[in-house]
Amino acid sequence: MMHANLIGGEWVESPDVMLNVNPSNTDDVVGEYARADANAVDTAVAAAQAAQPAWAEASPQVRHDVLDAAGTAIMARKEELGRLLSREEGKTLAEGIGETVRAAQVFRFFAGECLRQRGEKIDSVRPGVEVEITREALGVIGIITPWNFPIAIPAWKIAPALCYGNAVIFKPAELVPGCAWELARILDEAGLPKGLLNLVIGPGSSVGARIVEHPGIHAVSFTGSVTTGQALAVKCAETQKKVQLEMGGKNPMVILDDADLDTAVSVSVNGAFFSTGQRCTASSRLIVTEKIHDAFVEKLLAATNSLRVGDALDPETQIGPVVDKNQLNQNVSYLELAREEGCEVVGGELLEREHPGHYQAPAVFLGASNDMRVSREEIFGPFASIIKVRDFDEALRVANDTDFGLSAGICTNSLKAASIFRRKSQAGMVMVNLPTAGVDYHVPFGGRKHSSYGPREQGSYAAEFYTVVKTAYIAP
Ligand code: NAD
Repeated sequence: MMHANLIGGEWVESPDVMLNVNPSNTDDVVGEYARADANAVDTAVAAAQAAQPAWAEASPQVRHDVLDAAGTAIMARKEELGRLLSREEGKTLAEGIGETVRAAQVFRFFAGECLRQRGEKIDSVRPGVEVEITREALGVIGIITPWNFPIAIPAWKIAPALCYGNAVIFKPAELVPGCAWELARILDEAGLPKGLLNLVIGPGSSVGARIVEHPGIHAVSFTGSVTTGQALAVKCAETQKKVQLEMGGKNPMVILDDADLDTAVSVSVNGAFFSTGQRCTASSRLIVTEKIHDAFVEKLLAATNSLRVGDALDPETQIGPVVDKNQLNQNVSYLELAREEGCEVVGGELLEREHPGHYQAPAVFLGASNDMRVSREEIFGPFASIIKVRDFDEALRVANDTDFGLSAGICTNSLKAASIFRRKSQAGMVMVNLPTAGVDYHVPFGGRKHSSYGPREQGSYAAEFYTVVKTAYIAP
């Protein structure tokens, strides 16, 4: 079956078809997907512009009911959608189902947000005049997403965009059109009026670029790499679009001498290697104080060696394959670089399994320093640099010595160290005795420095990006 794009409420096929391939078994084609082009974006924007005003003016109950129905439909199909996600992206089935549940929770949260409207009514400084401050929809939002969270990231952008009365042009990453297509179909079947959500599967260089330059789009929410994001923000400025970027990370996990060793190992393994290290919040720098260093490394290596790498759908698998050949090649070149820079590399071998896939063992880079390229650049694979430091002060300095600032963690039993770390960390999210990855859906998500740009995502903070403020003065 050919999966078409959703444009102006119609499912539109295309002669340009691409294959969605399973990274656990490259002989397995997940599906055929129609590729849209830049003209399709123009048609989608016209439909979105026509549909959006009525949606913004509809009762909040109408918007609530559609988002709630979508959340319920996703939850009801969590096993099937989770399986599709694991098949197209390669994270384990448990992770795929977990991400799908998260998407359902996000839709239900924003269904509730439709009804939890906020505003202010205050006195003017002019006698008898009242001031009313409200939020309104922006109009048409471009949503551009990466491959590593194929359903949760689209959900946490599309749900608030629709909640606050906007229309959406949605371009998923080309590696994962499957979940995107299912999400569009679920919203269509949930009764979303025609034209409000447009799905345009296609390359970033044509379809993505058209979204960014189209004068009829008022804002772009992007998650992806720093290079793409920075170029996109410059382009958005030319047409005065509001822009929100969520990008890379080089997230530190600090392990202090007084940490509980088992906790430190388990949060490090989880943060560095789960989802094959392909998370913007992955712990790619493990910063360990010297007294605990050797004991930590010994336990970490044992835990890492015992991780089962395999087919994402095999219930025994803990680490799925790398997403595709390009990412695998990039990982291999970083392994070589780690050796050239003087690290002892443990792990990282390419593995063969029953079916042809992009399998790689997780790796640690022992004896790394924070100024090596492998400790400064985002690799996006199942790798972690182990950086030995003298004490907490040095650990904190090293943790902050990075171009990124998404998530930062510390393992310690000292309330004092944890408090200082929370205050002085230059990251958007701080974790104490918890993995750097793994966040809630009802609170703000985002980072600092090169990791993020623009207002926070998720929770009620999402309103900042997806709405515009109006200040009204009313005289009797
Ligand atoms: P990417 O930047 O290559 O692509 C992201 C999206 O942008 C894709 O849909 C792509 O088609 C599109 N795109 C590419 N060129 C474009 C252009 N010129 N104009 C418009 N759109 C364009 O990123 P990726 O490889 O899909 O994802 C991996 C990256 O995403 C990593 O750097 C990771 O850290 C980051 N990420 C960040 C977060 C976060 O919330 N901070 C979450 C997940 C992933």
